Amino acid sequence: MSQVSVASGENPEVHISEVGPRDGLQSTQRIMATADKLRWIGALHATGLREIEVGSFVPPRLLPQMADAAEVVAGARLLPGLTVMALVPNQKGAGAALAAGVHKLTLPVSASEAHSMANVRRTPLQMVDEVRAVVALRDAHDPAVGVEVGISTAFGCTLQGPVDEDDVIRLAVRCAEAGAQEVGLSDTTGYANPAQVRRLFRRLRAELGERAGAAHMHNTRGLGLANCLAAFEEGVTTFDASQAGLGGCPYAPGASGNVVTEDLVFMFEAMGVRTGVDLSLLMQAREALARGLPEEPLYGMTPEAGLPKGFAAEVARA
Ligand code: ZN
Repeated sequence: MSQVSVASGENPEVHISEVGPRDGLQSTQRIMATADKLRWIGALHATGLREIEVGSFVPPRLLPQMADAAEVVAGARLLPGLTVMALVPNQKGAGAALAAGVHKLTLPVSASEAHSMANVRRTPLQMVDEVRAVVALRDAHDPAVGVEVGISTAFGCTLQGPVDEDDVIRLAVRCAEAGAQEVGLSDTTGYANPAQVRRLFRRLRAELGERAGAAHMHNTRGLGLANCLAAFEEGVTTFDASQAGLGGCPYAPGASGNVVTEDLVFMFEAMGVRTGVDLSLLMQAREALARGLPEEPLYGMTPEAGLPKGFAAEVARA
């Protein structure tokens, strides 16, 4: 489970869930070879990351980048202490992911009706039924496997525009009632701002308590880190991030994808918040990514600037 206690006090901790091999690789035009994916996932694991979303179980004709998801899960399972997570849009995907041996499933449930129909051809409420069915499937297969939901387009939608905050919270509560152990909020389209993030996570945590899940922020408008900090200040302890900010829209040059893991780890460690991730090794892991996708632009301010002088020693003392 990704619940990490103590968000305040002497040694606050956060939990970084690396989603690059899924959220990042699903939006690149080139397909990374299975062996390269596993080399990269191994390098990420070596940094101390203990949860990695390694792929999604969707029809290969829709996302050929993810056609090898079962093989990637099998390889990632060999890494000690790693929670191997996969995205599944429905029961069929969940069945395949469970058969492949994932430790945790994540389902995207869109708060925007328009996005939900376009993405999965189901209304948000039909997706709640899907969550319930996936939980039942999981119970029959192995109750130890986690099921989490990310409420996508929680902060706005490119198709619908603004998304009603009451709808987001109501949907999150329904997903928890349907059996999801954690329900997080995703800024799928990079619309969120810190004030909105604080407001929505405060309401989510008031409704769901410990079952309020991760902040999944995109850096589309440069607010990824600010939004993560706002969520942290509301007590969120799990953050999704993608190495090198991999992803983004191939039709919008310069638009980056998820919040950059390297920058997020730097921010927290510099604040004295433990991530369990070795930043130097994290920077090195970019080489494995670059090797698998040589032409892909890699983002990140911290990797470009390098660590401040004396930073490692200071972090070790803290
Ligand atoms: Zn995303």
